[in-house]
Amino acid sequence: MKVLLADEYGFCFGVERAVEMVEDSLEKKETVRTLGPLIHNEQEMERLGDYGVSTISEPVQIKRGETAVIRAHGVTPDVQNELEEKASKVVDATCPFVTRVQRLASRAANENRHVIVIGNPDHPEMIGVKGYAPEHAFIIKDETEIKDLPKLKNPMVVSQTTIKAKTFFDTAEAIKNVAEGETQIINTICSATRDRQDAARALAGEVDAFYVIGGDHSSNSRKLLTVCKEQCEKSFLIQTEADINPEDLKDVKNVGVTAGASTPKWLIDKVVETLEKIGKEHEMALK
Ligand code: SF4
Repeated sequence: MKVLLADEYGFCFGVERAVEMVEDSLEKKETVRTLGPLIHNEQEMERLGDYGVSTISEPVQIKRGETAVIRAHGVTPDVQNELEEKASKVVDATCPFVTRVQRLASRAANENRHVIVIGNPDHPEMIGVKGYAPEHAFIIKDETEIKDLPKLKNPMVVSQTTIKAKTFFDTAEAIKNVAEGETQIINTICSATRDRQDAARALAGEVDAFYVIGGDHSSNSRKLLTVCKEQCEKSFLIQTEADINPEDLKDVKNVGVTAGASTPKWLIDKVVETLEKIGKEHEMALK
């Protein structure tokens, strides 16, 4: 049985960078506390927890002597200021792609223009971006919500980093049709999610079974599972190697593996090792 990895899988650039920044602080023997879970992966959070990393839900919980970490989603300037006042050190692990959206929002606000962000208003990334243009930014999910916006003049339209391109472009075009003056449309979607889906889709047609490694609550891992299932019926979402049922791999010649953007490399390696071991056991049983 051959184990084949998708061309793109696992940690995206922003998550990898955030984990490395936390590890840097740990090496310096700092007491690290992240505002919100650093990533949506139970096993990686447990691993970091073993090194003393803990999570806080409010900036007020940080104390002098501690290092506060801002995760890849970013925060509002008010939250950042509060952390800087309270903590001994702040590690800003906001993904540079998110920082770009924050800067664009802030620039539009300084020019006294509306900024429309296409995304989910409840998502932490969007709450952070809104904080950069509290009076000027409006977050809408799609074009059905344009009717709730004020009269727009020379708006800037940007996107949450993880939304679908079609939703962004359809909504941006619809805004252009109702706004006065010039509508500036800036695509700020990050390609990490789409790249992982495209790579999984390409591999799913060539394998007899597919394993997607990711958290149960991770929406990008669930989406990967849907993409794999379209071409490979025997596709499974697993959290760790312990979730693999060897019975599912009987008569399987090629097995595909991919992982959500929050799944660490060490966990992926363990799954691959386990699959290879099961493959060998099946071969031995046939001899
Ligand atoms: S998905 Fe993209 S924007 Fe989000 S953290 Fe990863 S690299 Fe950054």
